[in-house]
Amino acid sequence: MTKEERQHLLQQVREVYAVLEKRPIERQCTGRAECCRFRLTGRTPFLTRGEALLAMQAARAAGRKKLPPPADGSCPLLGTDGRCTIYQSRPFACRTHFCEAAGGPWARKEVRDLIHQLEAIDQRFGGSGGMGLPAAMKWAASES
Ligand code: SF4
Repeated sequence: MTKEERQHLLQQVREVYAVLEKRPIERQCTGRAECCRFRLTGRTPFLTRGEALLAMQAARAAGRKKLPPPADGSCPLLGTDGRCTIYQSRPFACRTHFCEAAGGPWARKEVRDLIHQLEAIDQRFGGSGGMGLPAAMKWAASES
């Protein structure tokens, strides 16, 4: 895959996020970051390859050279200030999953079309479905 093709696919991921943000469904993430503490919640967001590459690109732009897994089982993209370091580029699952404080999870039917688009992009990157965030970021680090 050429650099241009890769950038084009990453732009498609950004567009999926932009469409999601415009969906008329009441959700209000207040950045409490409780859902970023995987050991605490017992749940880990899954990312497709395009999302992982975009998150890695954003992490590098934010000055994160390495993403060691935190000892407390939190997301490696969580900053020392307790906030997401890549919030504008956070993965789809971080925007739609289980946070009750933000209004609860999106129903699959509300986002099925966007999930299919992310899966199609994933396949273009040679993926075969989502990976847990730590594994996805490890893969993205090896690719960039
Ligand atoms: S990517 Fe950001 S929003 Fe998603 S779990 Fe990690 S720190 Fe939280």
